[in-house]
Amino acid sequence: MHYFDLEDGVLHAEGVSLEKLAAEVGTPTYVYSSATLRRHYGLLRDACDAHKNALGEALIAFAVKANSNLSVLATLAQLGCGADTVSEGEIRRALAAGVPGERIIFSGVGKTDAELAFAIDVGVRQINVESSAELERLIAVAASLKQGATASRPIGTPSIAIRVNPKIGAGGHAKITTGGAGDKFGVPVEEAMALYARASASPHVTPVGLACHIGSQITDLTPLENAFRVLREMTETLRAQGHSVTRLDLGGGLGVPYYGDAETASPADYVAMAARVLDGLGVEAAFEPGRLMAANAGVLLSRVIQVNERTDGRRFLVLDAAMNDLMRPALYDAFHDLKAVRPRDGDMIPYDVVGPVCETGDTFARDRELPPFEAGDLVVFMSAGAYGAVMSGEYNTRPLAAEVLVDGARSAVIRPRPTYEQMFAREPMADWL
Ligand SMILES: *Cc1c(COP(=O)(O)O)cnc(C)c1O
Repeated sequence: MHYFDLEDGVLHAEGVSLEKLAAEVGTPTYVYSSATLRRHYGLLRDACDAHKNALGEALIAFAVKANSNLSVLATLAQLGCGADTVSEGEIRRALAAGVPGERIIFSGVGKTDAELAFAIDVGVRQINVESSAELERLIAVAASLKQGATASRPIGTPSIAIRVNPKIGAGGHAKITTGGAGDKFGVPVEEAMALYARASASPHVTPVGLACHIGSQITDLTPLENAFRVLREMTETLRAQGHSVTRLDLGGGLGVPYYGDAETASPADYVAMAARVLDGLGVEAAFEPGRLMAANAGVLLSRVIQVNERTDGRRFLVLDAAMNDLMRPALYDAFHDLKAVRPRDGDMIPYDVVGPVCETGDTFARDRELPPFEAGDLVVFMSAGAYGAVMSGEYNTRPLAAEVLVDGARSAVIRPRPTYEQMFAREPMADWL
């Protein structure tokens, strides 16, 4: 569900014409819908609130890596949404956008000592520990911070969760599966139990629970349910051993319908399933949705540079957006629905949709049946609000795509396209040149 619809023959983001936006801001530009973000958060919040008996005061922590624009984060923060972060930079973004430390989870397979110290210092809710090596470093960092604490600057003992790799990989592509036995994330069940005991024995960290995140773009609840069952069994075993387990972090990963008629589990069914699995445990749950919250809340707006009709019969729609702006098709063979901003009448025609970058990988779609396009027409990539702008770069010295946030009839540029002067100013010339 989203708020990008045709109005008087022109595609709008809520009350804002994308034709008008393109004229004002240029292309390529990411456009986000506040109403869609709010709706997605509200669906999850309502589902969690309906299952308080099983999930406690569940935290919904948006996975910042999916879309880390400060205005997007602030839109969610104002609703009470937390943040799942994977770097100091993301913690800083979440804080800057108004997410309080007690709603920030720090995840990630390779946190540096400096990042761990920063997270403890700002008082994040929980650090998810992913390996024995990390636990030992975290204990050392926490111990040394405590030595430097003063009455006016106290340092708390960090709450931690152990990230389990339940050997249940799932997701829309091998590169976004994280819970498989060979994947780099988390530790196997047996090791997680040992790490929990090790952490309990340390005065410098407080183990509060377990975490898992098995993959992304998961459209069927079965693998998620199996992973949650592993967490439940582990909780019961740890408690039988005398440990306190009060939180379960269920990760993110629920998929979205990238194809118009794709079948994906609903957020309500997903939360209901979690409540069923955790019922009676008396834990507080956390969800870390990224894609689910942001994907359908954004589009990438682009202009057709030209249509290349080759004598061998292939027809290329050459856009001013490229793989540096939207990497998902090149990286994961991802599908994005394409829509004309002002659809022309006429029969559908197969196009190869490409960008101008000098790589064959810069191909968004092959033989895609689309209404007729002409040079200068506007087109949008649907469902580009997650893992879109955040992965963009300036390959081929193409300026970063702009980002715009719409809210009803209002719009704001929330990341301007840099000028070439600004781009070059980031590269001071070596003084001997
Ligand atoms: C990426 C990530 C998420 C979000 O995944 P989505 O598929 O976007 O929901 C949640 N938790 C962790 C630890 C992650 O790395």
